Amino acid sequence: MSRKALIAANWKMNGSAALVKEMTNTLQSLAISAVDVLLCPPATLLTRFAPSSQFALGAQTLSHETSGAFTGELSAQLLSEAGARFVIVGHSERRSLNFETDGLVAAKLATAVAAGLTPLLCVGESLAERQQEKTQQVIARQLDAVYASQPELLAKSVIAYEPIWAIGTGESASPEQAQQTHAFIRAHLAQYDATAAAAVRILYGGSVNAENCAALFAQADIDGALVGGASLKPAEFAQICLAAT
Ligand code: PGA
Repeated sequence: MSRKALIAANWKMNGSAALVKEMTNTLQSLAISAVDVLLCPPATLLTRFAPSSQFALGAQTLSHETSGAFTGELSAQLLSEAGARFVIVGHSERRSLNFETDGLVAAKLATAVAAGLTPLLCVGESLAERQQEKTQQVIARQLDAVYASQPELLAKSVIAYEPIWAIGTGESASPEQAQQTHAFIRAHLAQYDATAAAAVRILYGGSVNAENCAALFAQADIDGALVGGASLKPAEFAQICLAAT
């Protein structure tokens, strides 16, 4: 990998204060610097982490508004004050369960960057879309919605390719399948900013575990992983981080 690897944990609506401690202790004892490590716990756990040079913190979503009467929402500023430096934007679970549209995802990403957070933009196709050979069309649409009108944000972003059929299913994309789509994403982004497209980190997500991660990381355009289920197990998550060194 020519870009520095990033291994990100997406705890989703899981975890606890006890897991914060356990994960912190595990990562502190690893002491790796060749890989960037990011933990995205539920927002309420962000302040439970002591500052660490071993990992950065991120949120799992944010409001596209900056403040005001939006009961239950969290702004980029609030997340930043709680310790987040990154934020996941457009995860497929939020797109489907919370009805987040391409337009809303684009607005959220811009709000994140304006507040100094690094957005981790998730894109990916459903099983039906893959079977209809629409993978590239869907991903191009998701990328264009964000970067066509604001190409300057690409240099500040991380991308995660997460095929929906591989999330939480135990069925990861094969390294070759993932590489093919990552290469497509990088080539597509080059039309907006060739330098930023060459430098942007494109993570793979979807049933990444300690067994399958090394083969994924060996691919030219896979710059790390967004890990769900396996990120709740500190020892396995640590193994995934080590495999990216
Ligand atoms: P998974 O989740 O690793 O459990 O498949 C990945 C994600 O949704 O980010």
